[in-house]
Amino acid sequence: MTGKIDNTISNKANEQCLFCKIAAKRAPSTIVYEDDLVVAFNDIRPIAPVHVLIVPRKHIATLVDLEEQDDRLIGAMVWRAKRLAEQLGVAMTGYRLVFNVRQHAGQIVDHIHLHLIGGKKLGSMA
Ligand code: AMP
Ligand code: ZN
Repeated sequence: MTGKIDNTISNKANEQCLFCKIAAKRAPSTIVYEDDLVVAFNDIRPIAPVHVLIVPRKHIATLVDLEEQDDRLIGAMVWRAKRLAEQLGVAMTGYRLVFNVRQHAGQIVDHIHLHLIGGKKLGSMA
């Protein structure tokens, strides 16, 4: 794409949603990357020296709500996590990528987001 918004996947925001507002710069955040599809910003309550959230501009509440045609978005999110990990200096030591999905995983913001966490040794998932 050449900077043009793709209405089929990029331009569906939810007025009430915090991460839609951050992506549209209608709420404050420290954005570390953005393009037509995704926005990445620092988590407001970091649990490690590097803690970035990567979100699609399109509002999708949870991974349960993901549709097959959204696969490009997920690819863009994971690719951005990989690149940011390199740029933020945690690729060599390693990092964790996490999607929390709904209540049992502790999802508190209903707009899908990929946590990129690194910069220290992380505990076990158990
Ligand atoms: P989750 O539990 O996966 O839904 O994680 C939501 C994350 O969003 C948490 O790590 C919060 O610290 C983070 N968060 C909440 N509000 C903001 C905000 N305004 N800016 C940046 N990160 C936020
Ligand atoms: Zn949203």
